Amino acid sequence: STKPVRIAVTGAAGQVSYALLYRIASGEMLGKDQPVILQLLELPNEKAQAALKGVMMELEDCAFPLLYGMEAHSDPTIAFKDTEYALLVGSRPRGPGMERTELLAANAQIFTAQGKALDAVASRNVKVLVVGNPANTNAWIAMQSAPSLPRENFTAMLRLDHNRALSQLAIRMGKPVSLIKYLAVWGNHGSTMYPDYRFASMEGESVKGIINDDAWYKDVFLPTVAKRGAAIIEARGQSSAGSAATAVIDHMRDWVMGTQGRWVTMGVPSNGEYGIPKNVVFGYPVTCSGGKYTVVEGLEFDEFSQDRIERTLAELISEQDAVKHLL
Ligand code: NDP
Repeated sequence: STKPVRIAVTGAAGQVSYALLYRIASGEMLGKDQPVILQLLELPNEKAQAALKGVMMELEDCAFPLLYGMEAHSDPTIAFKDTEYALLVGSRPRGPGMERTELLAANAQIFTAQGKALDAVASRNVKVLVVGNPANTNAWIAMQSAPSLPRENFTAMLRLDHNRALSQLAIRMGKPVSLIKYLAVWGNHGSTMYPDYRFASMEGESVKGIINDDAWYKDVFLPTVAKRGAAIIEARGQSSAGSAATAVIDHMRDWVMGTQGRWVTMGVPSNGEYGIPKNVVFGYPVTCSGGKYTVVEGLEFDEFSQDRIERTLAELISEQDAVKHLL
């Protein structure tokens, strides 16, 4: 369609957004024939707003044919007006000496306000992706704060974990990433997430069977994927941004355009699948079609995988418990 769609992005002057906005405006997320209007939200302070202006000047200088408009905002009830996509990237980073509960509380405040704003002014079909950490819990807070919007419209990003896991498997096998199917990452975007290759296949063969090295899986693969963010900070001196932005594009494009039967990982509110309590925003393997995702059901768990699922669920429940009195 040639009618432009409105895309709200928060934390628009941050690192991840700097790697993301150009790609949205060039059509990588919604397709090369879909014009977009960017509704950009930043903190009201002068420094953040000035930085946002700078990013918008650069976006202008790209002369993107699909970029029909851009707005700078500091109030979510204006930034989210009629938006069909909301990419919630901005969040409060952990400050020096900050306790985990303080961090959770600071973010609870941001995502309560943003959930309410979406509820009040966004398109009733808005597709929401939460990137800002703790992403699953922030998505849960936004969803709980937006009772008039469909629950299934709130998602959290586990796609970077999924992509990291795909690449580690591909490298180990010496094969292209594109040949690997049916990978899943379960649970929280955090150190307890569980990348699960038991169902993965490559050209019809089991990836687990091809690799045939359980010690590598448990002692190398799992910690490599879980600690990849820290390894990148160590190497680059800054947190990953290009790969995070790529994961945003992948998550939204697949949600909107479909996966043609492939599995991808999305953090979505549970409907009780695999015994996860309703509404917990949990990483599941999903397929997407017609603008909707469907959790892949009927997979079996062994003792190891059951234990990993319980650990990541326990982490999510403890995050929820730390903030639920604030909602
Ligand atoms: P980034 O753009 O680097 O990160 C933004 C969020 O994404 C953080 O929560 C971060 O989590 C998460 N993230 C970063 N990398 C990854 C990754 N590889 N995988 C998954 N998640 C990732 O942060 P900046 O500090 O550069 O920018 C944040 C911006 O947000 C600032 O400009 C700030 O002003 C703004 N902000 C806006 C708000 C608003 O619009 N209301 C509210 C709060 C902040 P982690 O910290 O764990 O890396």
